[in-house]
Amino acid sequence: MNRREVFEQVSDMEKRIGELYEQLGDLKDHLGNLLEENHRLAMENHHLRNRLEENETSDEEKRNDQATNEIPGEGYDNLARLYEEGFHICNVHFGSPRQDEDCLFCLLFLNKNK
Ligand SMILES: [Zn+2]
Repeated sequence: MNRREVFEQVSDMEKRIGELYEQLGDLKDHLGNLLEENHRLAMENHHLRNRLEENETSDEEKRNDQATNEIPGEGYDNLARLYEEGFHICNVHFGSPRQDEDCLFCLLFLNKNK
């Protein structure tokens, strides 16, 4: 190898290293975007899961309400007691405290199921 060939090889290698370095930069950008998107999707997934669980819980509550509505006698006594203890038993506010006021919905509900 003469001096000129060595110089050409070094310069060629320099050029290839430059190109690799550029590719590395592109890959880093790409990876950054992927990580960002992954994070965003993970958050969205987490959020949607919570929403889903909330919906399932409230569906269950609705079913329980319906079941309670359909049971006369003991179910009625329990609800009447719950109302006496100061809680709503109407579909509108079920389970929340009445704050010492009579609730028209609750009273209608009680009379309807007596
Ligand atoms: Zn009520």
